[in-house]
Amino acid sequence: MSMNKPSGMPDESFFRPDEKGPLGRFFAPVAGYGVTITSMFEPVVTEQYPFETPVIAPRFHGRHKLNRYADGLEKCIGCELCAWACPADAILVEAGANTPDAQYSPGERYGRVYQINYLRCIFCGMCIEACPTRALTMSNEFELAEHTRAELIYEKQDLLADLQEGMLAAPHPMVPGTTDGDYYRGAVTGPTQEQIEWVRENRPHDPSLDSAAVVKEAQ
Ligand code: SF4
Ligand code: SF4
Repeated sequence: MSMNKPSGMPDESFFRPDEKGPLGRFFAPVAGYGVTITSMFEPVVTEQYPFETPVIAPRFHGRHKLNRYADGLEKCIGCELCAWACPADAILVEAGANTPDAQYSPGERYGRVYQINYLRCIFCGMCIEACPTRALTMSNEFELAEHTRAELIYEKQDLLADLQEGMLAAPHPMVPGTTDGDYYRGAVTGPTQEQIEWVRENRPHDPSLDSAAVVKEAQ
């Protein structure tokens, strides 16, 4: 009685070992060297990190940044939308109320406490999509190794963007006659003389005063 081969089974030749000719058998013991020697003449693909900085894609999702407006006020308004959007529960925001004596951002509120826990963050970018003022963006920076777990919880001062040339450190009043909408639409292009005078009166030793005054005079 003949046994029928189940359908889908490969032919017997499929399992037969690869049979070499006399030349193949002669060189078989050193065949592996062929691969080694050939690869010696191929271009090297090893990246020399950290001695050479690797090329990062422009839209790479690196560590976050809390941005500022051109006059130095913070863009974050403490709305917590980023925290609600985060699937990893990595963001903590606590808002504070802006006052005439301490205006950190345009409008009523600012981000008083802002933390990102990089032990949880999966760099998905949902938070930056949720941010209504484009306060939160992601940079290309990927070197986030630290020595302790606590150091990987970044506080607001770790995330806040550096002051650019001509910016005036917050807090200070908004540009007179403007609204938070004007700020969002890019109508504010730098600190005004009134803002500079306010900081000079309230924080005469603020290090950002000199730069702001010099840039203002040059305009
Ligand atoms: S990138 Fe994703 S995981 Fe990281 S803080 Fe933003 S929303 Fe959360
Ligand atoms: S970063 Fe954006 S979304 Fe998050 S609290 Fe600030 S303004 Fe709101």
